[in-house]
Amino acid sequence: MIKPPPDFRKEIAPYRVYFNWEITYKCNYSCAYCCFGGVGGVKEPLPTIYPGIDKWIKAWTNIYQRYGSSEIHFAGGEPFFYPDFMKLIQSLSEIHTMEFSTNLFWNPEEFIKIIKPGRARIGVSFHPEFVSFETFFLKSRKLKEAGFEVWVNYVAYPSAMEGMEKFKKEFEDCGILMSILPFKGKYAGKEYPEGYSAQEREHLKRLGTSVWTEKTLDFAFDKNKRNTCNKLCRMGQMYAKIRPDGQAYSCCAGGALKLGSILEDSFSLLENPFLCKETDCPCWKCMLIGKEDHWLAHWPVPPDARLK
Ligand code: SF4
Ligand code: SF4
Repeated sequence: MIKPPPDFRKEIAPYRVYFNWEITYKCNYSCAYCCFGGVGGVKEPLPTIYPGIDKWIKAWTNIYQRYGSSEIHFAGGEPFFYPDFMKLIQSLSEIHTMEFSTNLFWNPEEFIKIIKPGRARIGVSFHPEFVSFETFFLKSRKLKEAGFEVWVNYVAYPSAMEGMEKFKKEFEDCGILMSILPFKGKYAGKEYPEGYSAQEREHLKRLGTSVWTEKTLDFAFDKNKRNTCNKLCRMGQMYAKIRPDGQAYSCCAGGALKLGSILEDSFSLLENPFLCKETDCPCWKCMLIGKEDHWLAHWPVPPDARLK
């Protein structure tokens, strides 16, 4: 294995670099609440590129040599929809650890064969429009039984709120936490999350038993918390978001800095924290300096990367 550099930001919270790689905005589902996927009239924000997995592996090896073993969060779209995805992650798991946001349409057996449980965490999103609860539940449980950390995400879409309490209980009875994400967008002429009635908000808060969900809801419902103007943030220094074309950005906000393409030598993380100018930060776990107590625990890594 190639050795990481000795000074790879181990002393700076959150003590390793995190990447959120939106490898493709394509998806095999078309959920009504999704701004990607195949929803009618919605265009992918950016086309997917296919430079070949060897080029991606080289780019991530370069990152390993410069910034050490990092955490790659694969998101999308649906990351497992990318061609040769299993081969790609098998190779990257030797140098980096991983997290996935996926709809779990794929075969867990194949994944279990190639990825060690200590190297990956898996956030599975349950979309009842496209898969039955039974199928989804069995696949999630299989991954959990194979030793992976698994949790479920569920979007509280106004028309899908009825069954969520029951789903949550079934998952939690077998040790899998289910997080409820507030819906953002338009439904029946109302803008959400503001459009939830007082009763629905109470229901969501009652089900949001994890600190994670509570903080997500607080952030969604409180505009003041989203005003981060003139605050120093470590996103861009300890985190980068990568779009399907390989271009990296300091965070998800409109005013994020461009950090170059990971496929080219131009890519570089910021050397110092970033003075934010946003009044509506999109990220509840943004890495504000001085607020580590709020966000540090929410940048976890798989077991193999802990305490190293
Ligand atoms: S599975 Fe995820 S990415 Fe695909 S359409 Fe649904 S919400 Fe969007
Ligand atoms: S506070 Fe939010 S908007 Fe500002 S740099 Fe950090 S993540 Fe981006």
